[in-house]
Amino acid sequence: MLKKVLPVLVLATIPALAQSAPKNTFDGKTWWDHVKVLADDNMEGRDTGSPGLRKAEAYVVDQLKKSGVQPAGKHGYYQPVKFESRQIIEKDSSAVLIRDGKVEPLTLGDDIIFNTRIDLAPEVEAPLVFVGYGLTVPERNYDDLAGLDVKGKVVVILSGSPAEVPGPLASHYQTAAERWKALRTAGAIGAISIPNPASMDVPWARIALNRAHPSMELSDPAFDETAGEKLSMTVNPAKADMFFAGTGHTFAELAALGKDRRPLPHLSLPISIRTKAKLEKRTIESANIIATLPGSDPVLKNEYVVLSAHIDHVGIGEPINGDRIYNGAMDNASGSAVLLDVAASLKKSPEKLKRSLLFVFVTGEEKGLLGSKYFTQYPTVDTRSMVADINIDMFLPIMPLKTLVVFGLAESDLGDLARDVAQSRGVQVEPDPEPQRNLFIRSDQYNFIRRGIPALAMGVAPDPNSPEQKQIFKDWLTNRYHAPSDDLAQPIDFPAAAQYEEIIRSLMIKVANDAQRPEWKPDTFFRRYAQAGSNEKKGP
Ligand SMILES: [Zn+2]
Repeated sequence: MLKKVLPVLVLATIPALAQSAPKNTFDGKTWWDHVKVLADDNMEGRDTGSPGLRKAEAYVVDQLKKSGVQPAGKHGYYQPVKFESRQIIEKDSSAVLIRDGKVEPLTLGDDIIFNTRIDLAPEVEAPLVFVGYGLTVPERNYDDLAGLDVKGKVVVILSGSPAEVPGPLASHYQTAAERWKALRTAGAIGAISIPNPASMDVPWARIALNRAHPSMELSDPAFDETAGEKLSMTVNPAKADMFFAGTGHTFAELAALGKDRRPLPHLSLPISIRTKAKLEKRTIESANIIATLPGSDPVLKNEYVVLSAHIDHVGIGEPINGDRIYNGAMDNASGSAVLLDVAASLKKSPEKLKRSLLFVFVTGEEKGLLGSKYFTQYPTVDTRSMVADINIDMFLPIMPLKTLVVFGLAESDLGDLARDVAQSRGVQVEPDPEPQRNLFIRSDQYNFIRRGIPALAMGVAPDPNSPEQKQIFKDWLTNRYHAPSDDLAQPIDFPAAAQYEEIIRSLMIKVANDAQRPEWKPDTFFRRYAQAGSNEKKGP
């Protein structure tokens, strides 16, 4: 963009004014130019391992070179990552319920789907038990499995958490890894989840539509957090009543309790499940992209402030309204574009930063935060040198930016810094208003958190008092999230995108120059990972 020479000169002579009225670096145009390239149809929805993603990554590397930020990967800007993909072959797979010795067939897609994120056992037959939220949270003395016999059984879970468990903690214990730890200890062999319709982002029809799309896991077996789990499935909530027949409970009644985060009953179900699962496995290669802007302070330059975003999306899928390309314009070409803009502007900036910055574009996010899992386990800089991660994923500039939702707001000093920066620009901040959606663990910041690094993610939020604005976001999720219509032909609020970039840029500068590195709050659950210390593995 053109430099606004006059205002800069005026502000330079009146420092007090410079503080109260921050100048603008971005106009939304450069951001949109990057989004247009990354979300173009010829990038084919940037699926992990696809030629489209490689093309998008080549564009990013080219832009980083042009900006003059330095490579910080393993081979130049790239850090290669290997995956195993798993695809369910439905014609050779099946699932039935068995009640009083009688078989009740389940229709794959309409009733239930296999979750290929785990290495499904070829055959399973086991009794079912409903364990409510299925959570074990030692910090709150909360245990849905206590006193239940789940040995050799498959547990049935209603997604969600009880009100007595705070949002971030509940999110943490709902990860596949934490869930499996508790279930394995209790002797269960698998889990079937029923989403609560009240907190589903994507309608069942769209979930079922792409169920044959391969899922992925990192090839390195050290990353396998669900080893031993034999079965994982998801039930269409509209068909969930068949699991509760004969218990005296209906699914609607349980879902209503779950919606209000109230206690759920535990029920031994008078049914078993029998499954056959045929998986096709392949090796896939992809890469993270990492760049650095070195700091100027002789000591602090050895520390890094990380700005991360996933560049992958879900690729080409089943057509919706004739369109097969899931462009992922907001998810997350939008975030990758912010990294490119912020990197370029800070490199150009005459203002020297004390700490170094690290720009990390991760792959495999849509497959389960896999690229960031790899990067944080095999970082290209020392783990302890990363003082903070600010992650951007689908920040949704679809209306004016008046309220910013900050995931992790109360967990570390970063939240306070983010609040200061936003308020200096007339933007209010709010904590996660919908902890049931688990957004705190649903993007890459979570892998930084697990390595002890204070982190947060932020997005444009509706005015908490405006039902109309809330509806706009809800409609976006229902219709465009992970659909081909998250493309370049959607309404965008460019000033909101620019304002968001200003906040990210200011926050990066603030963290880079602050005398203290950000700390976790004394009472936050996530502090434990920082105290566990650094134990990163040697990179392969
Ligand atoms: Zn996504």
